[in-house]
Amino acid sequence: MDAQAFREFGKAAVDFVADYLENIRDHDVLPSVEPGYLLDLLPKQMPETPETWSEVLKDIDRVIKPGLTHWQSPNMHAYYPTSVSYPSIVGEMLASGFSIMGFSWICSPACTELEVVVMDWLAKFLNLPQHFLHENEGPGGGVIQGSASEAVLVAVLAAREQAVRRLRLSQPELSESEIRGKLIAYSSDQSNSCIEKAGVLAAMPIKLLPAGEDLVLRGDALKHAIEQDVAAGLIPVICIASLGTTGTCAYDDIESLATICEQNDVWLHVDAAYAGGAFALEECSELRRGLERVDSLNFNLHKFMLVNFDCAAMWLRDANKVIDSFNVDRIYLKHKHEGQTQIPDFRHWQIPLGRRFRALKVWITFRTLGAEGLRAHIRKHIRLAEQFEDLVKADERFELIAPRALGLVCFRAKGDNEITSQLLQRLMERKKIYMVKAEHCGQLFLRFAVCGMDPKPSDIEFAWTEIESQLTSLCAEQQVNSRKAGELSELTHHLSGLHLTNETLQR
Ligand code: PLP
Repeated sequence: MDAQAFREFGKAAVDFVADYLENIRDHDVLPSVEPGYLLDLLPKQMPETPETWSEVLKDIDRVIKPGLTHWQSPNMHAYYPTSVSYPSIVGEMLASGFSIMGFSWICSPACTELEVVVMDWLAKFLNLPQHFLHENEGPGGGVIQGSASEAVLVAVLAAREQAVRRLRLSQPELSESEIRGKLIAYSSDQSNSCIEKAGVLAAMPIKLLPAGEDLVLRGDALKHAIEQDVAAGLIPVICIASLGTTGTCAYDDIESLATICEQNDVWLHVDAAYAGGAFALEECSELRRGLERVDSLNFNLHKFMLVNFDCAAMWLRDANKVIDSFNVDRIYLKHKHEGQTQIPDFRHWQIPLGRRFRALKVWITFRTLGAEGLRAHIRKHIRLAEQFEDLVKADERFELIAPRALGLVCFRAKGDNEITSQLLQRLMERKKIYMVKAEHCGQLFLRFAVCGMDPKPSDIEFAWTEIESQLTSLCAEQQVNSRKAGELSELTHHLSGLHLTNETLQR
């Protein structure tokens, strides 16, 4: 493909995406394909001779689009939002156009330095403690990881390596493998699956501590677990708290956890993958309580900051702890400016060597929307969730399972789990809206997350009408079925009476 064809293909693709996003409400949020649908539509081998881009674009419409779940639809209410905005798409396109590798400063100074700039902009926007800023000249700073899972894994691995080094000095009688075999980490039973997975990948068990009835993990639960484990000869390493759990967006008590971590030399990481966006709002300042005492934290711009996947911000109070843990060098990776503050070689802050120019889409998004636009976006999600919460509260057939938190409402149909389960099944079959279920204390509930590129109050009304009307018809069907069942049992009873009479007659 030459540059001219690229111009034409690229422009057609931009039109295609703009049409897709502008008309996203035309599609059911869930696709209507069966497993294996694509395998039947495509040849088993790549084409031997080149095809035209227009043929390929037609196939994107014919083959790919029908198999998409439309995450940018305002009728998407499952999981948490996955952000996108037009400026961010352009940023992604430009970054692909440059196709640079930003693993060290010399590999593209603009990539490293723009990341330093936007991570400091973001830290200030979110009102994070000063020590997380690069401009403070170390040792703290921010970095963009691919996902929250990677950020958590980096924190877990760094905490583990720091603990091993510390213990080798303080307990020289223990071998390294003995130390590694005793390490233990903590999180809440409400935390995201990526935290348990980080433990598996780091070969360090993560104990999932019971959150309170309000789904909050507090210092007393951590203290109790640490005391038990230390008595059993184990070595506590890290606690991963959540600000905004995946199930109900509950906020762990960072202050009390920090106290226990400080007393026990335990790294405290905060996973604020979704809720971190709310740190920017003065009315949510409570959420930031205790952040000045944590060692590291992560927040997904691709969830709540209008930047498309992948873009997970992570801040470290002392980045040297990660750099020292991960620093594996080769002569060909060295350059004459390495080690200078404010020009970090981000390859030491992450798992892979290569790194994408993610800061570009962040910078373009922040500049074209401004802090004002970003705050308005978060407030809009909160307002829409409040609208949905009011609808739930006004219908006595439903109940909230937890207080609304930011753009998430957790609710269920009153009664046993079966009715909520059947309601969800019906909604999934109809494909008009998409929610997922969760469970708390044996109660099944539905998570309604405000998602999509541009959700509006009318979309919330649409979702609510779909939910409540399906409950109405489900209940009506159940009434008909139970009436039929009643009639049937009456008839059976009657027939068995007749049978007896016949027998009697025969006798
Ligand atoms: N943490 C929380 C609280 C989440 O809700 C999620 C995903 O929804 C994750 C972590 C994992 O995020 P990622 O897909 O970026 O790894």
